[in-house]
Amino acid sequence: MITVLSGGTGTPKLLQGLKEIVPPAELNIIVNTLENNYFSGVYVSADIDTVLYTMSDMINEEVWYGVKDDTFITHERLHELGCGELLRIGDIDRATKIQKTQLMERYGLKKACEIQAENMGIESKIIPMSEQQSDIKIITDIGELEFHDFLIKYQSRPEVLDIKFSNVSPSEGIIETIENSDAVVIGPSNPITSISPILYLEGVRDALKDAHVIAVSPIIGSNTVSGPANKFMQALGIEVSSVGVASLYQDFLDNIVIDVKDYNLKSQLNQIVNKVTVTNTIMNNSCVKRELAQIIMDSIP
Ligand code: GDP
Repeated sequence: MITVLSGGTGTPKLLQGLKEIVPPAELNIIVNTLENNYFSGVYVSADIDTVLYTMSDMINEEVWYGVKDDTFITHERLHELGCGELLRIGDIDRATKIQKTQLMERYGLKKACEIQAENMGIESKIIPMSEQQSDIKIITDIGELEFHDFLIKYQSRPEVLDIKFSNVSPSEGIIETIENSDAVVIGPSNPITSISPILYLEGVRDALKDAHVIAVSPIIGSNTVSGPANKFMQALGIEVSSVGVASLYQDFLDNIVIDVKDYNLKSQLNQIVNKVTVTNTIMNNSCVKRELAQIIMDSIP
């Protein structure tokens, strides 16, 4: 059994590789819920939906958000009605979100995801990290911003001074899922706003200490492949590099996978992590995704 900790951009690319080689029933995906909130009357769990669409081959790979070839009739009509929305939600994507809102209000988020995964023909388990509503604020040079305002309205441009988020309880069964796994893979997602919220859940860090944990660095050199992880790490005083990423996971990490461009960091990383795997981690085509997934699977003792 393999468990993956996921956000909504880099890790789904890796999931495309993993799902080619790991039997679906042997793959669990614990997904970040930190940024979940209501928009335009529907519950938006962006990372969960990205994982659902990735696992059902519906994902829009241009933005790693929403459904490929979706239409935006409702979104555009809302604008015409003077009711513009911050998030650009496609019509098919909105149907998923409407259904999830209804299911969630009736059964809770975990069960809602289970039902939707089944509807989409997904056999792997997709588990929201928590059923509780989180509260995240990005403290910037222009004031305290809601996460999606920072990301979309301000295009991640303001200088980030700090990030604050509330602690929530883990969804039922998360600790057991980690304990029963042959390995836990931390995908290349934002270490601050996607992975750390999962690590903060009560019992997760301790469970990871007893598991075999492999992390793929989302930082290459001192840059992200996409997204604001570099700004967030800098704001929290963490070195923006694979070494900074490893330092966040140091107490439980067994193997860090870094990009060939970071070969020079290998000996420094070896001082904090048992094993350092160097390979191409820029997943811009299906071959790289599959090869990276295979390297990860082959490294599990
Ligand atoms: P998240 O996807 O929800 O965690 O949000 P972000 O967009 O903030 O973070 C995505 C992270 O994935 C970024 O830090 C990227 O650098 C990383 N990422 C995206 N694509 C790739 C890739 O192909 N390879 C690697 N190594 N990292 C990637």
